[in-house]
Amino acid sequence: MMVTYLYRCPDRHETDLAAPMGQAPAHTGCACGNQARRTFTAPMVRAVPRTGERVRDAAEQSTELPAVTTMSAPAPQPLADPRHALLPRA
Ligand SMILES: [Zn+2]
Repeated sequence: MMVTYLYRCPDRHETDLAAPMGQAPAHTGCACGNQARRTFTAPMVRAVPRTGERVRDAAEQSTELPAVTTMSAPAPQPLADPRHALLPRA
């Protein structure tokens, strides 16, 4: 899972850095050349995982830990337009 961390250099510039959760470095380079230190704000976690990750995670879970089904399967959801993956993300 990618998380956006906030860094602030001694000149108070702010830099965003995306890193896997729990693996952000303590410092990163600021655009001004200073070392920016990580600030401990609440990380901005992507609320909606990408469709590909969701499908892969579901496949892995069904391999290692199959869910026991007690009801008939729900109707399949229509797939999102794959062109959405090409749009820029905030
Ligand atoms: Zn700076």
